[in-house]
Amino acid sequence: MSNRSPDVSVAGVRVSPDHFIDNQRVPSIATFEVVSPIDERMVARVSAGGAGEIDAAVRAAERAFPSWAALGAGGRAPILRRLSGLMEDRVEDLAAVETTVNGSLLEAGRLRVMKRAAYNIRYFADQMERLDGEQWDTPDGRAHNRVVYAPAGVTAVITPWNAPLMLATWKVGPALAVGNTVVLKPPEWAPLTASLLADLAAEALPPGVLNIVQGIGEEAGAALAAHPGVRRIAFTGSTDTARLIGESAARNLVPVSFELGGKSPLIVFADADLDLAVQVALDQYDNAGQVCLAGTRLLVEAPVHDVFLERFVAGARALRQGDPREPTTRIGPLITREHLERVAGYVKRAKAAGARLVFGGRVAPTLGGLYYEPTLFTDVPAGAEILMSEVFGPVLTLQTFRREAEAIQLANDTCYGLAGVVLTRDQARANRVADALVAGTVWLNCFYVRDLAAPFGGARWSGIGREGGRWGVEFYCDVKNVVYRTGTFATVPGVPIA
Ligand code: NAD
Repeated sequence: MSNRSPDVSVAGVRVSPDHFIDNQRVPSIATFEVVSPIDERMVARVSAGGAGEIDAAVRAAERAFPSWAALGAGGRAPILRRLSGLMEDRVEDLAAVETTVNGSLLEAGRLRVMKRAAYNIRYFADQMERLDGEQWDTPDGRAHNRVVYAPAGVTAVITPWNAPLMLATWKVGPALAVGNTVVLKPPEWAPLTASLLADLAAEALPPGVLNIVQGIGEEAGAALAAHPGVRRIAFTGSTDTARLIGESAARNLVPVSFELGGKSPLIVFADADLDLAVQVALDQYDNAGQVCLAGTRLLVEAPVHDVFLERFVAGARALRQGDPREPTTRIGPLITREHLERVAGYVKRAKAAGARLVFGGRVAPTLGGLYYEPTLFTDVPAGAEILMSEVFGPVLTLQTFRREAEAIQLANDTCYGLAGVVLTRDQARANRVADALVAGTVWLNCFYVRDLAAPFGGARWSGIGREGGRWGVEFYCDVKNVVYRTGTFATVPGVPIA
C-alpha cells in the first residue's frame, strides 16, 4: 500500500505534495510551505527532499536509462507527443495552479505559457525524429565519418519560480527526446505545476524516465548537482547559485548548461517608431519584472528623450496592477515577502545614491501585500548598483545617449549578457548595434520572440552554453564520431541518430 500524502486542492485542482520517483509518489517527513503571492496565504505543505530522495531518484533514472535510450528517437517520439497532448488537455488546470503559486497572469498562462510548455515537449520529440547524424568522406577519400548523437545519461534539471513549468519543459523536453532520463528539482517557491506534470508522466512515460524531487535549493538542489550518477546539469536560475552548482559539476566533470540572470539594455534611437518603442518598453514590466530577459535599462537617444519619457510615464500609469486572475490585470504581485524586501532594498539604495525616482518605488497603497508598483529611475549616477545588479522586479532605469557608439558602450557596461532590444528604423544601424552587443539574444523592433529552433543562452554572467535546436541536442548528447575505412561498408544515407 502506498504511503503517499493526501492530495491538496489548489485553485480547485488536486495536486500531490509528494515527490515522484520511479512513477510512484514518495513523501518526505520534512515539508516546506508554499504561499500564494496573491494574498500571502499558505496553499500547501510540500515534501522537502534531501540527499536520500535525490539518490533514490537518480538510481531510478539510471535504471530506466538503457531501455529509454534503446527506443531510439522514433520510439520515444510518440510517447513524448502523448505526454505533450496530456499537458494540452490540462492547460486550464496548469495555468490555475501556476498563477496561485507564483502570481503570474492567469490569461497569459491559459493562452500562451502552458501551451508553450506542452509544445516544448512535442517540438524536441519531432526534432529528434527528423535529425540525421552528419556523414562525410575524409579529404583523401580513405575513410568515412559518421556522427552519432548518443544520449548522455541521467540529466539533472534545476529550475526557477518565475515561469516554472515552461522553463522545466524547455530542458526536460530535449533531454528526454535525445534519450536521457531526468531528475527535476522544481523551485521551492513554485513547485506545484511540476507535480501536475508528474501525474501526466505517470500516464505517458515508463517508470524512472522522469523523476521529480521537491525541496529547498541548498538541500535537494545541492544534493542533485553533486550526485555522481548525473551526466548533465541543466540549470536556470541566479548567477550566485550557478557558481555553487558549477563547483559540484567541476568535481564530477559534468557538463553544465547555465541560463542565468540579466541586466539587459533596451535602446531607443531617435528614428524609432516611438509608439512601438514605448509599448515594448512597458512590456519590460511583465510578470512584475520577474523576467530574466527583461530590458531593464532603457537607453534613449537625446532628441527623443523628453517625448519618450512623457509617453512612457503616461503608459506606465495606465498599467492595471492587481489580482493576476483578473483578465484586465497587467502587473501582478512579487513572488514572496522576502523577494519584495530585496527589490525594495535596491530601490532604497538607488535613491540614496542620488537617482531620481520618477514613479513607483513603493507597495501599491490600494493593494498592499506583495503588489510593488512599477518603478522608474532617471539621472542615475554612473556605476550605481541599480544600473549594475539584477533587481528581478518592476524597476527600470532610463539613461540618455547622444551617439551610437555611446549607446553600445552603455549597453555593454554590465557583467551580464543575456539579451538586448534595439528600436530603430535604420536597418544598417540595427545590424551594427546587434553585432556589437554582448548578448545571447538581440531583438530588433520586437521583444520576447523565442523560436525553439534558435540558440538560447547568455554571455558573461548570464550563462554558459546554448540550448534550443541543434545546440540543445549537442549539450544533452555525447556526440560521437564513427570512422570506417572506405570500401569496407556501404554508406547508408539517413543513419539513425542513436
Ligand atoms: P535561484 O538560483 O535562487 O534558484 C533556482 C533554482 O536553484 C531553484 O530550484 C532553487 O531551489 C535551486 N537552488 C538554490 N540553491 C541551490 C544550490 N545551492 N544548489 C542547487 N540548487 C539550488 O533563482 P530564482 O530566484 O529561483 O530565479 C531567479 C533567477 O533566475 C534570476 O536571476 C533570473 O534572471 C534567473 N532566470 C534566468 C532565466 C534564463 O533563461 N536565463 C530564466 C528565468 C530566470
